Amino acid sequence: MNDCIFCRIIQGTAPARIVYQDDEVTAFHDIHPRAPIHILIVPNKHIPGVNQVAPEDVPMLGRLFLVARRLAEEMAIADGYRLVLNTGRRAGQSVFHLHVHLLGGRSFGWPPG
Ligand code: 5GP
Ligand code: ZN
Repeated sequence: MNDCIFCRIIQGTAPARIVYQDDEVTAFHDIHPRAPIHILIVPNKHIPGVNQVAPEDVPMLGRLFLVARRLAEEMAIADGYRLVLNTGRRAGQSVFHLHVHLLGGRSFGWPPG
């Protein structure tokens, strides 16, 4: 998907501050951070969002959480962070390549806006 910005970041044809990459998952700094730490954790496979995940994606989906845990520990925010998956424009999704936001380094209110 060459028209997908996250696919281009994964393939290395668009710039990003990548903090983790393996055969299934890539993580990089959000270009417009909403918290002192704001990382996007994405599958290397192009999946538009949660509404398109399939049973064969389950191992990759689990790895997104393990990478989130590892990065939260590495970035010293394991005592309090937020994982966000916006699904659909109404919920604020603007990039239609599945991504988990890892946000930390400040306090967060609840419920979210
Ligand atoms: P969404 O609104 O879909 O939940 O989140 C998309 C996120 O991707 C936003 O936080 C936005 O700042 C980030 N983003 C959009 N384009 C780029 C880009 O080209 N590079 C990076 N690193 N982040 C991006
Ligand atoms: Zn993509």
